[in-house]
Amino acid sequence: SESVDSYRKSVCMTVKGRDVPNPIVQFEGAPFPQYLMKEIHSAGFASPTAIQAQAWPIALRGRDIIGLAETGSGKTLAFLLPSIIHINAQPQLQPGDGPIVLVLSPTRELAVQIQTECDKFGGTSKITNCCVYGGAAKSNQISQLKRGVEILVATPGRLIDILSGGFTNLRRVTYLVLDEADRMLDMGFEKQLRSILSQIRPDRQTLMFSATWPKEVQSLAHDFLVDHIQVHIGNADL
Ligand code: ADP
Ligand code: MG
Repeated sequence: SESVDSYRKSVCMTVKGRDVPNPIVQFEGAPFPQYLMKEIHSAGFASPTAIQAQAWPIALRGRDIIGLAETGSGKTLAFLLPSIIHINAQPQLQPGDGPIVLVLSPTRELAVQIQTECDKFGGTSKITNCCVYGGAAKSNQISQLKRGVEILVATPGRLIDILSGGFTNLRRVTYLVLDEADRMLDMGFEKQLRSILSQIRPDRQTLMFSATWPKEVQSLAHDFLVDHIQVHIGNADL
């Protein structure tokens, strides 16, 4: 419609793909449960950022997405809020189950930032999470995983390490996020990413976020996303 077009234009948004839903341009009337609206309100956010406005309805429909937007544009909550709703619609974790949501992140620092948002926005619905990264003792990460977590935030190298030790499994992962995909590839994680992705059920939902759109990221998207919608915020021609 005309108002959707003018919203997209005003935030420099371009979308590509089949059946793109309308953006959620304001929190009033947004399709979020009360426990999330409460957290959004207490965070003091006035309105969704552009990437959130378009990523949320796509993710809530179970579609794959590529979200291209600069640093600081609110990408974490773009994938995290729909992931919490996804988890709350799944059967409870059983003993021995691995995570339902897997978020791959390039660095420890970024992984911990994501985990902090998981604690804040997943706390009221008692969603459990765990963060695993290199350069820290494995024992504590492993004991958290063994208790069972719904969201696992991980750097690729440490996750491979933990999987090969048999300390968790990816059989229940139905919502996969590749955050900062360009940085993960820059850091040389392509082989690890492809190995992890090949262990996750093909009927999962996949969300990929990146600040830039180089050939290597395009090829990863081509190989691992299905019938995705691409959302780009910015002026640069892709
Ligand atoms: P990115 O991953 O795109 O670099 P982040 O998800 O880290 O961005 O978000 C950057 C900052 O914006 C964070 O401090 C976050 O709390 C804040 N933020 C997220 N969503 C909103 C919003 N809708 N309105 C205002 N600030 C927001
Ligand atoms: Mg980010």
